[in-house]
Amino acid sequence: MSDHTSPQTRILVHGASGRMGQALLRLASERNDVVVVAAVQRSQPAQRVVDGVAHFAASELHGAPAFDVAIDFSLPQGFDPILALCEERGAALVSGTTGLEAPQLSALESASQRIPLLWAANFSLGVAILSELVERAAQALPGWDCDIVESHHVHKKDAPSGTALALGASAVLGGASPRYASLRAGDIVGEHLVQFTAPGERIELVHRATNRDIFARGALHAAAKLAGRAPGRYRLRDLLA
Ligand code: NAD
Repeated sequence: MSDHTSPQTRILVHGASGRMGQALLRLASERNDVVVVAAVQRSQPAQRVVDGVAHFAASELHGAPAFDVAIDFSLPQGFDPILALCEERGAALVSGTTGLEAPQLSALESASQRIPLLWAANFSLGVAILSELVERAAQALPGWDCDIVESHHVHKKDAPSGTALALGASAVLGGASPRYASLRAGDIVGEHLVQFTAPGERIELVHRATNRDIFARGALHAAAKLAGRAPGRYRLRDLLA
């Protein structure tokens, strides 16, 4: 966190009424290096101003005030408009929205030539480390079966989760061919089990998120670090220091 004399990074929260959006608004108000200047959700907000933050419907996105970084935790259908607005305004984008289609991923790649951009399937430090462990295990265990089992709350729309796919990409880098299984149950915040199995033995690497604040903290930290950087595609680990 920067000191009191540093200018605050102006944030637009996209997906503000959702589970992640609510966590972002609450945790941003506890920091002194960022200030939320706009909160955007799909439908008309019940109140225009809440705790000093201007709330907008997605249809009014272009009326949003000036901002340095948009933090997007919405749904794939909300992604294109917020990417376009960031490009139009020359603002940075931090997005954790999962389930993006291939054309959206290529639009993201091409926008990174014009704005600083970070998309991550998971904003927790624990998962960043798990990803490295998975790649190392896959390298060290040629020929072992690799299975990724992810569990989430019943409201989660995409499956396998973006995190499971990112862990799978790490396993592939290490030479494994992962298979996926998804469970949707109750209010599980997020669990990822990566299992390596051979005849007579098994290794299990597990990450359990018990509170979505870890993702919101990671995204706010990334936003504060991304503001004012050169255009490009950044990774969470580039911004952790
Ligand atoms: P949610 O359903 O609770 O909230 C979605 C929000 O998006 C709502 O505010 C809704 O109004 C808004 N929205 C939907 N369509 C929109 C549109 N067309 N334009 C603008 N806003 C729109 O979902 P959630 O649990 O908060 O998760 C949001 C996203 O973040 C999902 O894709 C989820 O998988 C992802 N997620 C990522 C991480 C991570 O670390 N990367 C962590 C948790 C969740």
